[in-house]
Amino acid sequence: MSEVENEETLTCGICRKTGTFTAPVSVILVFAPAMSKPYPLIPAEDYRVCGACDAIFTLINRAVEAHPTTRAAGPWSRAIVVFSDGHGVDVKAKRQGQQVALA
Ligand SMILES: [Zn+2]
Repeated sequence: MSEVENEETLTCGICRKTGTFTAPVSVILVFAPAMSKPYPLIPAEDYRVCGACDAIFTLINRAVEAHPTTRAAGPWSRAIVVFSDGHGVDVKAKRQGQQVALA
């Protein structure tokens, strides 16, 4: 199996499924206990998220850690991801001690 990326067939890096991707992310509203109001993160690139697994958590974690304001606020508790087609997803942070290892 080759790992060639095809523009039309996205493959999830986590669950390996194809064809379950959302529209590109327009904005991620991040809620954290340390912030009095949600902070909007706008992805610099087109991010499409696999809808078949927990890939959206990875996306939010990476977005939060990439921005100084949200990184300084500590762990997020909730996030609302809005896609370019107007669809939105309300994501609650997992309350487990699970850490996502990023190489
Ligand atoms: Zn997936």
